[in-house]
Order: sequence, then C-alpha cells, then structure tokens
Amino acid sequence: MFIETNQVRNQIIPLEVFSISNVNLVIKREDQLHPDISGNKLRKLKYNILEAKRLNKSTLLTFGGAYSNHIAAVAAMGKEYGFKTIGIIRGEELVDKVSSNATLSFAKSCGMLFYFISRDEYRKKDELFFSENLKSIYGDFYLLPEGGTNEFAVKGCAEILTNKDTSFDYVCSSVGTGGTIAGLIKSSNSLQTVLGFSALKGTFQTSYINKFTRKKNYRILDDYCFGGYGKVNAELIEFMNDFKNKTTVSLDPIYTGKMIFGIFDLINKGYFKENSTILAVHTGGLQGINGMNALLKKKNLPTII
Ligand SMILES: *Cc1c(COP(=O)(O)O)cnc(C)c1O
Repeated sequence: MFIETNQVRNQIIPLEVFSISNVNLVIKREDQLHPDISGNKLRKLKYNILEAKRLNKSTLLTFGGAYSNHIAAVAAMGKEYGFKTIGIIRGEELVDKVSSNATLSFAKSCGMLFYFISRDEYRKKDELFFSENLKSIYGDFYLLPEGGTNEFAVKGCAEILTNKDTSFDYVCSSVGTGGTIAGLIKSSNSLQTVLGFSALKGTFQTSYINKFTRKKNYRILDDYCFGGYGKVNAELIEFMNDFKNKTTVSLDPIYTGKMIFGIFDLINKGYFKENSTILAVHTGGLQGINGMNALLKKKNLPTII
C-alpha cells in the first residue's frame, strides 16, 4: 500500500572542483521520491501513517509555519491515504493570506483545515491543556509533532541509506530537529562519518539525536546556517543558482542549499581526506521555493531559478 521508497537514485556530481581536490560527491535524490511529498518528510510520515491506520485514526493533526515542508507533506499524505488533516499554523495574520502563500494554498487544495494561532499560543502547543482543547474542537486525532519527528519518523529515515551506500566515507544531511540525521546515524556503519549541517543557529540537536542512537560517528556543524533558520543572503542564492546551472539539481534555500554550500566550503578548506567519497542526502523541500522567492522579491534580492 505504500509509496515505493526503494527507487531513489544516487547521482554523481561531476564538477571540476572535485577532481582538483580529489573527492567525489554523490547526491541521493530523495527530493524525487514523490512529486508532492518530498524527501525526508515522506520518510518521517511513512511509519506514522501506518501507526495512525493501526490505531484506526481518521484525522492527522500537526503544527507548522507558513512555509513548512512538513505541513505540505502531511496535507498531501492525508489526501493520498484517506485521512482528514488539520494544520495548526503559527501566525494569526495568515488567516486571510492563504491564497497568496504557496505552501498554505497547496495544503488547502489537499483538503487540510487550518487553525491559525498567535506566536504566543503556538509556544504552548506541547502543553497538555492545548491538546485537550484541540480534542474538544476536533474530536479524536493522530498527533504529529512539529517537524514530524518521533520514533516512527526516525525509523523511516533509517531506510534512506541502503546496502548500496555502505562504502561512502561521509554521509551528509541538513539538520532541523535532528530526526532525519538520527535515522541516518542508526543505519550508517562505524567507518562512516555522518555530517550534519544545522539549518538553525546552534548544534543543540545533539542531545535529541542521542535519545535515538548511541552511536557517536557523527558531527553537527552550524557554520553554514547563514545566521539562523530561514535566513538567506544573495551569496547563498547565487551559489544555489550556479549549482543548478552546472548540475541541473535544484536546491531549497532553508536546508539543502545551505548543506551543499557547506560541503563546497569544507572541500575548499581541505576538510575531507584525499579520495573521500561523500554522499549528500537531498532531503527535498523544493515546495518552499515559490514562497521564498516572493520574500526575496520584496527584499530586492536575487530569486531562485
Ligand atoms: C524538515 C527538513 C529537514 C530537517 O529534518 P529534521 O528531521 O527535522 O532534522 C531537512 N531538509 C528538508 C528539505 C526538510 O524539509
């Protein structure tokens, strides 16, 4: 019954910089898993959907911001697998901006119902009274945490690496909550280093990751967060556009663009040992490009091609 997840392609990126520095970069195209439910968000939802079915739940409820890949994925997944979906959205002001927001209008077209709340209220979303209140409004539901990370999500992300990936020296991933990289660490082998590029300021995800795995063959860097979550500048956008021109691979500005930028910078700094093979997981997120381009235009910055 489930979307085929074994067909992901590893794409060699043949750029001159790699031959000069004697490293190989291969991108795992998780962004191509599904046209609407891209990358790690599909992996994270897979076992949650099976669990929701097992518990006979008919509604999925989750949280997110106006550009959230997770919101878009839950909406699309709900449509595909016959669940009602409810999105608790951060920011009351968005209530009459749904049609001009690419992510929210996509989620709405999949049938998602929205409940807009203030940033103050949103901060309390993990408290018991909050979910009790939601139950009194919406009845019974299967709750997916913000970003979708829980034990089922980590199990799904452990399936990203396959037996064809065992010889890579480095496995790279963008890091938000840390759920995806926790899965990658679990299925990596001890000769591999799993390298996480934080999309947020800080590397606090470590303590969360350690709840899911005892392995220590990983490192999280926040040197390439560009100031914090969702922050971008012209240098990043131009790098992403240049990368797309040379390779045809689109990157997203929140996660994968920053990771690939970081990998290039580390290569230039000689971080990777000679003849290293690097597998970078393209976790998807391309649905966010339209929304980001609308913001970039307002700020007179270059847009993503
Ligand atoms: C959500 C997301 C991430 C971060 O995943 P976590 O499991 O929260 O660390 C990385 N890349 C993309 C494209 C995402 O949408």
